[in-house]
Amino acid sequence: MSQNIDLLELLDKEARSGYYDSSVFGGLSGFLKNWGGSHSSPKISQLANEYAKASLSKRPALLQELRLLLEAVEAGERQLDQVRQVVQPEQNLLSASVRNIPKIGSKTAALFRRLGACSIEELLFFFPRDYQDRRQITPIAQLLPGQSTSIIGRVQSVQLSAPRARLTILQAKIQDNSGGITAIWFNQGYLENSLKQGRKVHIYGKMDNKYNHRQFQVQDFSFPDQENTPLGLHPIYRSTENLSQKTIRQAVIHSLEKYGPNIPEILPEDIITRRNLQGRVQAVHDMHLPADWQVQEQARRRLAYEELLILQLALQGNSDNLKGTGIAHPPAPELLMKFKSALPFPLTVAQDRVISEIFADMEKPVVMQRLVQGDVGSGKTLVAAAALSKAVTGGFQAALMAPTEILANQHYQTLQPLLLAFGIRTELFTAALGGKTRQELLLRCQNGEVDVLIGTHTLIQQGVEFARLGLAVTDEQHRFGVLQRARLQEKGRTCDMLIMTATPIPRTLALTLYGDLQISVIDQMPPGRQPVLTYAVDYSYEKRLWAFVDKHLEQGRQVFVVCPLVEESAKIDLENALGLAERLQKQILPKRQTAVLHGKMKSEEKDRIMTSFAQGEIQILVATTVIEVGINIPNATVMMVRDAERFGLAQLHQLRGRIGRGSDQSYCLLLHNAKGDIAKERMKIMSETADGFAIAEADLRLRGPGEFWGTRQHGLPELRCANLFRDSDLIEQARSDALELRCQKNWENIEIKELKSVLTEKIKLMSN
Ligand code: ADP
Ligand code: MG
Repeated sequence: MSQNIDLLELLDKEARSGYYDSSVFGGLSGFLKNWGGSHSSPKISQLANEYAKASLSKRPALLQELRLLLEAVEAGERQLDQVRQVVQPEQNLLSASVRNIPKIGSKTAALFRRLGACSIEELLFFFPRDYQDRRQITPIAQLLPGQSTSIIGRVQSVQLSAPRARLTILQAKIQDNSGGITAIWFNQGYLENSLKQGRKVHIYGKMDNKYNHRQFQVQDFSFPDQENTPLGLHPIYRSTENLSQKTIRQAVIHSLEKYGPNIPEILPEDIITRRNLQGRVQAVHDMHLPADWQVQEQARRRLAYEELLILQLALQGNSDNLKGTGIAHPPAPELLMKFKSALPFPLTVAQDRVISEIFADMEKPVVMQRLVQGDVGSGKTLVAAAALSKAVTGGFQAALMAPTEILANQHYQTLQPLLLAFGIRTELFTAALGGKTRQELLLRCQNGEVDVLIGTHTLIQQGVEFARLGLAVTDEQHRFGVLQRARLQEKGRTCDMLIMTATPIPRTLALTLYGDLQISVIDQMPPGRQPVLTYAVDYSYEKRLWAFVDKHLEQGRQVFVVCPLVEESAKIDLENALGLAERLQKQILPKRQTAVLHGKMKSEEKDRIMTSFAQGEIQILVATTVIEVGINIPNATVMMVRDAERFGLAQLHQLRGRIGRGSDQSYCLLLHNAKGDIAKERMKIMSETADGFAIAEADLRLRGPGEFWGTRQHGLPELRCANLFRDSDLIEQARSDALELRCQKNWENIEIKELKSVLTEKIKLMSN
């Protein structure tokens, strides 16, 4: 094994690929144990050993420990390293560590690693998050307070002071033809010597007018006599503590000069010509250092096209086997009548219409790909039930995949008795099912003795096989990755697909995600629903809210209390939820039955709690957002959301959809610490709007497309350059080009090796 393999990178790779001890042949642990490198130590072997034996949940911590250990050893060796000057073989230049860049040692490299830029290639593809237009030079006399701009002038005098510990202030009088101003640097005393009297300096910053004294706060600066800073758009990067813009920029500029030309072209030549695209080397360069906005946009579009093409290739590759003819489910005119008469209430007109659309699709001999959009509470489950019963009475099996165990369970509880009326055998397949029961169920499914199988991601596991799957339904699609959904469909080869979602999806995005997808909308609520009354208040009202809650409990109602769960600090949040439940039991409402529900619980325990909440034994359910999707308990009429400002609008809307499901008036209490304008605006929108589509629009406006349609929400890999809203033309181009590429008979030996290897990586990412 080569000596200069970067161990820290290996650890990162291991973390990225899910701690499966698989980042290197023979396992990370095996590799470290036997590693003869200069870092090897008994302590490392021991940790590696532990790592191999540890459960998946313990591994991240162990890996962290390994990293610290390696970093410590390495720091001691840095001097040695410099003497040795690791020489990389030519073709590996791009994959070499950023430590090959001058002035980047292991400490700085660790900071770059945090940004996802371990290698030079990753750094080159780490694009600016924004640009500052620094070509605009303002005469000093015309500076306006609060406006960011550049000035160019000469240093008149410099003064350094240290008003308190760990604070130094460097003030320099700068003069141009129009006037003078004091420029201020904090904690950069070492600049004193470079700011020589009379030297020309280009400063970017902001003027403020404190105590009637004009100052120029320096954000960035350069000396025209020294650096050849391109006076164009100035890149601003996403950064992390202790890593300055200057360091990132210099590293990028160095990499562009030295390694940039080695960036391989990955698009086929004819596509580049036909679509009039820039070369890859040029595009990467121009993303970092564009001369103007037009140049930047041209570069962005080239790279966006590339991202979209790869995405389309990945998606189409998956639906290859769906191109053939689909199942023509037999027409059954009486089925819908029978179905309706089995329900305790009439279908809404919208439900009725959508069901007919689905039935018509199913009867056609093509593969159905239909998306059903309907706001929370619009009654999507029954629509799915109708489709399931059609598939089964026509002689096929059907599957329903839900994102959580709780939801799968609830669907089972609702659907099993309803479908039984048609002689349909419905089974629940969850992760909790083990050993013999599991084997038996799988066998019956394989033999076609199960008609409808309901489950979670468990359904796409290996070993789950159907005799004749004719319909696959996915509920709350935004919770699944695109490939996960496709894999369910593959279980039936040419089976029909029904996708249900409460999230409105714009046309361009639907195109990207699903290709030629048909969309049905349930644009009507079941009758008798009263809109939920929503109040957003700050914590000074908390006591009054608990009194309000108690009044409703007294009337026999039930209450959800939702605590935020943010991934980064999941532990603290969990403690908050547990702590609140304890306070409720001991202090706030000791007479009431309180229980906690959170994601870390075993599924049996969750089910037990949900069941007893559904049966009214629990009055207050303190929950993290596991209740977000799908749960249906009409007697719960009050919901308190704590730290509501930490939730997105779409999420709050989903949450609120858990109440107001019966005919009684429901109340949503948003308890918040909202300080900023946007947070306040969100609270206001929630109080005034009940329409999911309007809320989605507002969310889009407040957050920007990138975040709301965060590609993650839709199971897509991160898109760095493409914008799913603005680039609809590129999406269409990429789609048709991808189709063409895939259809070329010689796809297998086609000369686009680089494209294929990038594609393979992408597919791996998306499958996780
Ligand atoms: P969602 O669209 O959010 O999945 P559900 O399918 O869970 O909504 O339905 C919400 C509630 O509305 C359930 O209690 C369901 O029984 C009820 N419901 C569905 N359709 C109708 C209808 N046509 N009339 C009255 N109630 C209905
Ligand atoms: Mg639902």
